[in-house]
Amino acid sequence: MRLKHIVLILLPLVIYAQSAPQQWGENVTGVTTKFHSKKKEIALTFDACGGSARSSQYDAGLIEFLTVNRIPATLFINARWIDTNPEIFMQLSRNPLFEIANHGTAHKPLSVEGKSVYAIQGTASSDEVIAEIQGNNQKIEKLTGKRPLFFRAGTAYYDEQAVAIARSQKMEIGGFSILADAGATFSAPKVAQQLINAKGGDIVIAHMNHPEGGTREGIIEGVNALLKEGFTFVRLSDVKNQLERIP
Ligand SMILES: [Zn+2]
Repeated sequence: MRLKHIVLILLPLVIYAQSAPQQWGENVTGVTTKFHSKKKEIALTFDACGGSARSSQYDAGLIEFLTVNRIPATLFINARWIDTNPEIFMQLSRNPLFEIANHGTAHKPLSVEGKSVYAIQGTASSDEVIAEIQGNNQKIEKLTGKRPLFFRAGTAYYDEQAVAIARSQKMEIGGFSILADAGATFSAPKVAQQLINAKGGDIVIAHMNHPEGGTREGIIEGVNALLKEGFTFVRLSDVKNQLERIP
């Protein structure tokens, strides 16, 4: 074999091995941000991040509002939050209104090369991406008998290669089209305003671990306004065949 032929055979392998991800953010290729719907229906999603005492709180009033008003929602729960709130987690998992989704094992941004965001270090390899997903999948499946269908990384940041790995693990990435509380930093009127602007097929992200913020009051006001306009609410698995992903 001539040198030229060897180079032609090896070159694509070298390029593949060295190809770095091209995207880094919340809306990268393969992330689900909306669902197809001609109806007035919206998916509410709530994160429970865990880690610090502040992030391990539980907004009981928010969950009570959803339960009393029969509002379904998808709850993205981190493994550390489950460890701190084991009884509440089991109650939530038994409530048929709620779908339990995976918010990571160590709440890391999902990177194949150790990128970070908001000073939080991401996963650093394909193996770490898989461990971040499967560690909490296994915990949730062991506790509830159900393997989650949806994954949202800590910080909701990804590169497109990490997303492809997650999808190869049969996980849908739970992105969003409406940022309702910006990490539970928005005031109640701002949260309500974000919701009131929602349209059919929107996926809303907010938090269920910050009762001290404006989230609960804003969600209650916003959801009540949407109910008056005739909107209904779905879990992400209810619309799993209608998902819209970033191309
Ligand atoms: Zn989180």
